[in-house]
Amino acid sequence: MTDCLFCKIVARTIPATLLFENEHVIAFRDIRPVAPAHALVVPRVHVGGARDATAETFGHVLAAAQKVATDLGLDESGYRLVVNEGPDAGQSVFHLHCHVLGGRALAWPPG
Ligand code: AMP
Repeated sequence: MTDCLFCKIVARTIPATLLFENEHVIAFRDIRPVAPAHALVVPRVHVGGARDATAETFGHVLAAAQKVATDLGLDESGYRLVVNEGPDAGQSVFHLHCHVLGGRALAWPPG
């Protein structure tokens, strides 16, 4: 999608701090981190959000999120994986992405 921010990051026409990539996904640091560790994992193909994702896409995204969390040293302290879908969840970029959050105690329930 030519107008999609995360498609542009996948295509490297917008810079990002890359943490991981494979044939299915890329992971990069969130530009406005809300925790000491805050990464995003996105599929290379354009998928609008959780409601459009297949089990296969979720599998690739979550497997990569697990690896990124480990690489960021979060295995012992713990971490949270979040996918915001639609207005009530505050989704702001309409290309499926999984937040990897950690490095501090995270409140529950979320606001
Ligand atoms: P969401 O609100 O769940 O749609 O999350 C979108 C996330 O994308 C937010 O946490 C933003 O800070 C992040 N974001 C927006 N633009 C960029 C960018 N150019 N590079 C990295 N992260 C971004």
